[in-house]
Amino acid sequence: MKTFLVVGAGLFGATFAHEAAIRGNNVIVIDRRSEIAGNIYTYKKCGVQVHKYGAHIFHTSDKHIWDYVNSFANFNRFTNSPIAKFYDETFNMPFNMNTFNQMWNVITPAEAKNKIAEQRLEMNGKKSENLEEQAISLVGRDIYMRNSLRVIPKSNGVKKRLSFQHL
Ligand SMILES: Cc1cc2nc3c(=O)[nH]c(=O)nc-3n(C[C@H](O)[C@H](O)[C@H](O)COP(=O)(O)OP(=O)(O)OC[C@H]3O[C@@H](n4cnc5c(N)ncnc54)[C@H](O)[C@@H]3O)c2cc1C
Repeated sequence: MKTFLVVGAGLFGATFAHEAAIRGNNVIVIDRRSEIAGNIYTYKKCGVQVHKYGAHIFHTSDKHIWDYVNSFANFNRFTNSPIAKFYDETFNMPFNMNTFNQMWNVITPAEAKNKIAEQRLEMNGKKSENLEEQAISLVGRDIYMRNSLRVIPKSNGVKKRLSFQHL
């Protein structure tokens, strides 16, 4: 039998502590936060579980892991399908064929690929000298603009940062 000191009661620390304990070891768990569960900690407010450190989605393609976590708690089925807003457009993030169809009216992945290849030509073989040029050389301007922060010069001299906005 060993004694383990586990620093951090998040998913990793808690899983390790549990597995070590059921194998007959002594386990001490400490955390600098006053609650357990690390980043996935929730508390109840008005009957609703609120994520203190930001919402979390558990995802795995491994049945063994899925069965393991379900032995501790019941999970809700959830499909993450965020919509982003860019000026007056809304579109799926991350990009998929719906987004390409909205942007370029293309239907097939091959058409989207051709459009990206066409947009990449903007660099015309020029060596990239900054992030923007590198991004355009890889994915083209339309995708770059919808995925990145932009600095817009304003008339009063103050620069405003714009980005897409998740809805
Ligand atoms: C806003 C947000 C959203 C996220 N969404 C997802 C998601 O949807 N899906 C996903 O898979 N992952 C997501 N993550 C990542 C997710 O938090 C981790 O996958 C998972 O919770 C990490 O578990 P962990 O045990 O490794 O770390 P943590 O949950 O961070 O736990 C570490 C613990 O260790 C403690 N600790 C650290 N250092 C010390 C120290 N020196 N002394 C004492 N205690 C210490 C901390 O207080 C904390 O409680 C998200 C992260 C954030 C911040």
